[in-house]
Amino acid sequence: MTALLEVEDLRVAYGKIEAVKGISFKVEAGQVVTLIGTNGAGKTTTLRTLSGLLKPIGGQVKFEGKPLGSVPAHKIVAMGLAHSPEGRHIFPRMTIEENLLLGAYLRSDSDGITKDVERAYELFPILGERKKQAAGTLSGGEQQMLAMGRALMSRPKLLMLDEPSMGLSPIMMQKIMATIQELKSQGTTILLVEQNAQAALSLADTGHVMETGRVVLSGTGADLLHDESVRKAYLGED
Ligand code: ATP
Repeated sequence: MTALLEVEDLRVAYGKIEAVKGISFKVEAGQVVTLIGTNGAGKTTTLRTLSGLLKPIGGQVKFEGKPLGSVPAHKIVAMGLAHSPEGRHIFPRMTIEENLLLGAYLRSDSDGITKDVERAYELFPILGERKKQAAGTLSGGEQQMLAMGRALMSRPKLLMLDEPSMGLSPIMMQKIMATIQELKSQGTTILLVEQNAQAALSLADTGHVMETGRVVLSGTGADLLHDESVRKAYLGED
């Protein structure tokens, strides 16, 4: 069976600086796959390339067997790949509901859209309680929920989350991770980029450790969680 996403020897550069130096991995439908690694390892660059925001200098990406090649970003969203970016990028002066609806901008099925807005409010009740308020009034963690809710509004086949736990309190982080777990149990396929290796590996089927633009180690989430080198480098053990 073809994997939902196949990344083969992907290389991405900013001018002369090669940030991603030939990485390969797959995401099967229904899986949660995580990319972990320190700052600057190339995780965000990878997601931005998969979304069509950056053009690779080498390698190939296939989504449902189709090469993404020079497909523009908006068409990639239409194919079913949604991206909740690092730093959230919500629109602070627009209401929470308006921000959510932006995620459905390529859809015209108004009944389906209404249902999915309700689903986002079920997943994140705080968004429903405050739907008419400006999104800028939400806390960091709540803005993260909004960014995830908005990405889900395109009914993606693959949801890419870039550092959803960044800057959050431990309680808020647990909530976000529990939501990812819930999305997983509903069958959502997720590519999760995280610096919080413990949290990400605990819920991932498969993990890849990135260092300076390369995948240096891959395994099941459980295997990596117990791997001595991972524990030393990313889980703060001596
Ligand atoms: P972080 O968690 O800090 O986002 P990351 O693993 O996502 O780390 P990237 O943001 O992909 O890493 O960065 C990979 C490398 O590319 C780094 O060396 C970074 O300095 C460089 N880089 C990122 N964005 C740019 C840019 N716009 N121009 C030049 N270099 C960049």
